[in-house]
Amino acid sequence: MDDRDRSLEVATETGAVSRRDLLAASPVLMLAVLRGEIPAQRVTSGYTMLRPIDPASNPLETYPNRDWEQVYRDLYTPDSTYHWMCGPNDTHGCLLKASVKNGVAVYSDPSFGYGKATDIYGNKASQRWDPRACVSGLAYVRRAYSDRRVKGCYVRAGFRQWIDDGLPREADGQPPLRYRTGRGKEDFDKVTHEEAAALVAKVYTNIATTYSGDEGAELLRAQGQYEEEMIEAMHGAGVQTMKFRGGMPFNAPFRVGGFYRLANMMALLDVAVRGVEPADSVGGRHWDSYSWHTDLPPGHPMVTGQQTLDFDLFTAENAKLITLWGMNWIATKMPDAHWLTEARLHGAKVVTIAPEYQSSSCKADRAIIIRPGSDGALALGLAHVIVNEGLYDEQFVKTQTDLPLLVRSDTKKMLLAKDVLVGYTNAVLTTVELVEPGTKLPPAAEQGHQYAPADLRDEWGDQMVWNLRTGAPAVVTHDDTGDNFPTGVDAALEGEFQVDLVDGTRVTVRPIFDAVKQYLDDTCTPEQISDVTWVPVDAIEELARDIAANPTKTLFVEGMGPNHFFNNDNKDRTIILVAALTNNIGHYGGTVGSYAGNYRLATFSGIGQWIYEDPFDVTLDGSEKAKVNKRLKAESAHYYNYGDRPLKVGNKMFTGKTHMPTPTKSMQFANSNSLLGNAKGAHDVIINTLPKIEMIVHNDWYWTASCEYADVVFGVDSWPERQLPDVFGSVTNPFLHAWPSTPMKRIHREGPRRLHPARVQRQQPHSRLPLRRPPRVIEEGHALLHDDAHQPQDRRLGADQREQAVVHQDRPTRVLPRRGRVHRVRREPSGSPRAGRRDRVRAGRDHGPTAPAARSCPAGAVRPRRERLERGGAAGAQRRTHSASDRRVEPSAAVRRLLARARHAEVPPRMSLDGRLG
Ligand code: SF4
Repeated sequence: MDDRDRSLEVATETGAVSRRDLLAASPVLMLAVLRGEIPAQRVTSGYTMLRPIDPASNPLETYPNRDWEQVYRDLYTPDSTYHWMCGPNDTHGCLLKASVKNGVAVYSDPSFGYGKATDIYGNKASQRWDPRACVSGLAYVRRAYSDRRVKGCYVRAGFRQWIDDGLPREADGQPPLRYRTGRGKEDFDKVTHEEAAALVAKVYTNIATTYSGDEGAELLRAQGQYEEEMIEAMHGAGVQTMKFRGGMPFNAPFRVGGFYRLANMMALLDVAVRGVEPADSVGGRHWDSYSWHTDLPPGHPMVTGQQTLDFDLFTAENAKLITLWGMNWIATKMPDAHWLTEARLHGAKVVTIAPEYQSSSCKADRAIIIRPGSDGALALGLAHVIVNEGLYDEQFVKTQTDLPLLVRSDTKKMLLAKDVLVGYTNAVLTTVELVEPGTKLPPAAEQGHQYAPADLRDEWGDQMVWNLRTGAPAVVTHDDTGDNFPTGVDAALEGEFQVDLVDGTRVTVRPIFDAVKQYLDDTCTPEQISDVTWVPVDAIEELARDIAANPTKTLFVEGMGPNHFFNNDNKDRTIILVAALTNNIGHYGGTVGSYAGNYRLATFSGIGQWIYEDPFDVTLDGSEKAKVNKRLKAESAHYYNYGDRPLKVGNKMFTGKTHMPTPTKSMQFANSNSLLGNAKGAHDVIINTLPKIEMIVHNDWYWTASCEYADVVFGVDSWPERQLPDVFGSVTNPFLHAWPSTPMKRIHREGPRRLHPARVQRQQPHSRLPLRRPPRVIEEGHALLHDDAHQPQDRRLGADQREQAVVHQDRPTRVLPRRGRVHRVRREPSGSPRAGRRDRVRAGRDHGPTAPAARSCPAGAVRPRRERLERGGAAGAQRRTHSASDRRVEPSAAVRRLLARARHAEVPPRMSLDGRLG
């Protein structure tokens, strides 16, 4: 027995042996016991850890050292928190709370502040609005640091060259093609914000000068790409070729409205270039938002006069039947998805109507898979069942709809009182105020009733119904609806009647309802509709009966999917017909609605002063109202997406003068990648339309495909780092948010603390992005973090902790206990929450664009790679290697083979000088 065994023997006798010593000595002790040198009892008496413990005890109370736990607490304990507004194009708007550690916003949480919100009457919102957030919003704070973050301003090399060469133009006025066709392929120069602004201003001036006046019009004609009506629509102002787009103004009107203000201010340039008086000047053009996105349901204004019908999504609470028409509520209304699922808990029935079994379908009681674009037909099938089975709400139909109004069989027009009653004069209406042309209306927020042009009143007239009580026609004015419907009138819904007119003739008239019924009977039986929609007959009948059984409690929720069809207005008109038949208009829980009304600014009625402030007479006193002088003109972005031309078939021009687009020579936009990066028909836009445009300016904080195809990119604040306050509203929730400024340091402009050697290189004039190789931020012990391109993604439990560990980059030994595996987290997708670790590692360095962009058409995505190969040689490869910085990976043999095939693949059509496909 050696000394250690003897001391252990003593220790076991006293019971003071540690588990570690005991385990280390176990083999020797066992041998001694077996040899009979030590009684077994003496050994086992020392195993105190084998004795049963008191179940009521807490072993951690006596645990000798728990300091290590503080490490993990430190990881998650923020130094500070602040609130920020998540306000992307999804239009929900969620107030979130960021937690800051070492100056870095490391994660976000819901703010849990919605339950504290009160209205102007002091009513409190329900706590059930909390938590209000989605996973995308929670991840945004990490994306602010991602490697695709735009940190500064960038100018495309070819565009910069055009400016440096003195903005040369061909005989037809266009810049030489070589300056215009490098988008998506060329490198970018990093410039200061001021320099980028100066370059953009220079080109704006050049464009306005080039295309103003008769000479400008001649150049546009010589280019052979524009209809004469487009050139005439400019009225000689070159600034009319400049297009601006901000986004949905209700979602942060100062931020978004700034673009429209900029368009209005182009009147200053017009005066400078054309020498016209301010009163004769025009501004630029602003592109629309929602109609371009196809969110708008076109049938809503046709039926109601309102651009869209909307409701707060929580009204699902009040419904008993919720029908989703092309709207995937669960997936696209994330923070309000719970209202739908909770409505089901309250007993509401959910029906999805869509061409696919969508994620809302698995939450639904019934999923109706419909032939794409046949929603209108389905609604007519429902109407057929409701009318023919007598399931409609007769009283509602007679007093609240126009279905009882009489139609003349000879003219197919409404029967007017003046047609029948000698000397009839239209009634004086109390619910509508008639206004003469040129009358200035009060702001929308202050309008308490309807307005109508006075000169329409006579044409409008007063209509008639057939009174079953008197057996004669009766006058029903616009005022006579609902509770105001004349008590002595029982309007007929069916039948044909003879009416004597004041001119002595007799005509047959019938209620609209009767005509609709005939149409339904002739063409919309469930069997006929089943053929068109592919929806089973019994599903049509069952849904119709369900809707009729839930008057005032059936929601018709419309999404944007069906808006993509040319018959889209019919979808809205027929759905509203079904709602009108069943008394499901205008009730909490029983109405028709989209989610698309975020163009509405009535709640922020002062925003007009911001957008349209007179650029020639700016009000500097903040307490004064700004003078409004609207100089800009609106234009739909549809025309740009349609080859920058109006709708003309053969020689027939379908686009009217009021909507005529102008040639697009510049575009500046923000808040939407859809205008360019993921535009519909992206190949056509990129190949055929972009080369006609001389300057594309994009403001963004994330390097999207729109940045890739822009000429100038302005880096801007991401939402978690917004420095300027704003307001935010959305038509799908009741909250008006004050958008806070955040205490976060601007990421997109380098601060002194981010100085590093590469910055010197960046500040060189004309330094190209590829020359900037980011330095290592963390040097010692973290080399693997930068050299792990082939490592698999780490999905193991605990990866998050290691991610957090890197926040403490100044204390690596303490927080990287599993150093050997940390690098494996490195390959997590950029922008994902976990990618934040990598982002933080890179924080403070400049990250330029990396190609290809994540969202683009296949042609765009493959082009930069192909270009890299096409350039060939060490120079091309070297540039691109640097461009991709530390993401660059030498292609494997398989990838090289793939790229070689791509090089010999069919070359996409290229733009010829006349702008046509070649
Ligand atoms: S739902 Fe929209 S606004 Fe709300 S957190 Fe998610 S992304 Fe942000």
